[in-house]
Parts: sequence; C-alpha cells; structure tokens
Amino acid sequence: MINVTKTFLPDQEEYLQYVREIWERGYLTNNGPVLQKLETQLKDYLKVDHLYFCGNGTIVLQIAIKALEITAEVITTPFSYCATSNAILWEHCTPIFVDIDPKTFNINAALIENSITPATTAILATHVYGNPCDIEAIEVIAKKHNLKVIYDAAHAFGVTYKGRSLLSFGDISTCSFHATKVFHTIEGGALISNHPELDRKLDMLRAFGHSGDEHYLFAGINGKNSEFHAAMGLVNLPHVPKIIQARKAVFDAYDNLLNWDILFKPTISQDVEYNYAYYPVVFPSEEVMFKVMDALRVEEVIPRRYFYPSLNTLSFMPKQIACPVSEDISVRVLSLPLYVGLPYSDIERIAGIINGHLLP
Ligand SMILES: *Cc1c(COP(=O)(O)O)cnc(C)c1O
Repeated sequence: MINVTKTFLPDQEEYLQYVREIWERGYLTNNGPVLQKLETQLKDYLKVDHLYFCGNGTIVLQIAIKALEITAEVITTPFSYCATSNAILWEHCTPIFVDIDPKTFNINAALIENSITPATTAILATHVYGNPCDIEAIEVIAKKHNLKVIYDAAHAFGVTYKGRSLLSFGDISTCSFHATKVFHTIEGGALISNHPELDRKLDMLRAFGHSGDEHYLFAGINGKNSEFHAAMGLVNLPHVPKIIQARKAVFDAYDNLLNWDILFKPTISQDVEYNYAYYPVVFPSEEVMFKVMDALRVEEVIPRRYFYPSLNTLSFMPKQIACPVSEDISVRVLSLPLYVGLPYSDIERIAGIINGHLLP
C-alpha cells in the first residue's frame, strides 16, 4: 500500500536514549529540559526568536487568536485543512472566506479589501502546501485597516521567503508537527511570534495561564506538550535537510513524468526555498479525478483530496460565502504520494496510471 505520506522514523536507539534519560529524571512534561532543548534548536534552525512548542497545530491557532484578542470577523482562506476555520469557530469568531488565487491556491490578496467590514479584526491565511501567501500585500492591507495577521504555517516548516523563515511573518505564525508533516514530533505544534511583548502571554496561555499558586494572569488552556514528543523532535530535526532533499527528488520525478498538457499544479512563489511538503495536481474535471483515484486504488495507491471540501461550503459555517475558484479547484485536486523512500519505480508507475486515465 502506498499512501499519500509515510511518517519519517529516526533511529530507534537514538530515541530510546532520550526515553531512558526522561525515565531517570522522572520529569515527563510541563516545560522540561528536553522540551527546552528542542525549542532552542528549533529557534536556531528556523532563525526565529520567539517560539513556543505546543500540543498540536490546532491549539496553537486558537492560542494565537486568543493572544491577539481577535474577535468577530476573521478573513480567511477556504482552501486549507478544516483546522484553520474550525479554530476560528472555536474562538467564537466568524470566518469570512475570501477566494483563492488560481495560480498559488493561497488567499487572493486582491480580493481581501472587498470583504473588510467594521467587524473585521484579523486575517488568518494558510501558506497552503508550504507555498507563501502574498505576504507583502497582506501586510499593507493589515496596516491600513489595523488588522492582526496570523499565518497558519502548518505546511511551511523549513521554507524560506527572501532568505527569511516563512514562519517569521505576520503577528503570529503557527506550525504543526503532526506525524504527517515534513518535520514531526508525533503530535505537536508551535507558536512563532514577532512580538517580544507577547512572550509571557503565549508562554502562559499554553499552560493554563498561571505561574505557581499565586499568579493567575490569563484564561489559559492546556496547550502543552511532553518530553517524549520533544525527544522525537530532537531526534528528527537533524534529518530535516536530508528529508527535504529526498522529497525534492520525488517532486522532480513527478514533474518530469506527468502530462502537463492536461494537468496543472500551483506555481511556487518566487524568492522561495521550498520544502516539497505536498504534490498537488489538478485534473480537468472531478470526473477525471475520480477515474484516476479509482485506477490508483486498484493498485493500492492512495492519494488524498487535499484540500477538499472548500471550507466555505461546510454546512456549519455561520456565513455562507461563495468562493468559485476554491470550489472549482478543491473538487478536482489530488495530493500524490510524496515521502522519503518512495522508490522511483513506484513514482513511474503512479505517473503512468495517471497519464493513462486523463481522458473523460
Ligand atoms: C495539519 C494542519 C493543521 C492541524 O495540525 P494538527 O497538528 O494536526 O492539529 C492545521 N492547519 C493546516 C493547514 C494543516 O494542514
């Protein structure tokens, strides 16, 4: 069986060394030494100053919304994983969907201002597939209208934009270190902020909002993560450059083998050092996409409909807003298998099946 992804697992003995250390110490969670070491190494690797390791990539979105005191309407993208808009709903805000750019599949910055109302307080955009949003345009709009900016950078680990970590943009960027992502800690996530004055708040919000028995400062949540998860991160982190190289090889192979007269895929923005997080391809129609999906399934190849459905179409969204580009792409896009160790012969076979089923 070939799935859309396969989790990278490091050398077991390296991980067990940390496990034995943790055992001896008897200190399993609550900002322990392994977690602190991981935070230091992540800040080093990503070249960011303020980073908080947390439980997952969803709770960090909620903490970011809480920390920036975002309320009412939040402008967001319909083309993302549902965690993005669910986090907005869980913080009692209203997602206002703005359609995507047909080239990058990211929120279309040129359409944002049309959707701003007196109730708008923030923009929450996803760097979908690790491809940077139109950061400069979003910054200009946010400044002009006094809006906070959060980037859901769950796909963007290791990506740089103009030589700078993509995680370092916006008021806060959030990351997911889930087992399906380029860098993982089994479950995990991080808050990355550009505001030193938010340090204490972010640090406390993820841990119930108090320090010791006396100082109850914020209505915090349990967004912490454990020593065991941090250990997985420490063992995986040195492998990341090699992981990205291996992913690039798979990516390049698909680029060479697929029939681009009929298929298309998002354009990676310029000035980017990419992490090859996903390999999305868009088919001429949903019908062709299903035909290809069925043909792949017969050969036990399981791609995923990333990202479907277009989030603006979900029945539980308080405001139904049409996003024709996102709705069109989401019904005919598939993310193809992409992971370290996917043999070239399988990539060839997958591309062959796809190319052979492109006519309706
Ligand atoms: C994976 C993902 C999340 C959620 O991350 P978890 O760590 O699984 O909670 C959020 N946003 C996007 C865009 C994702 O792909």
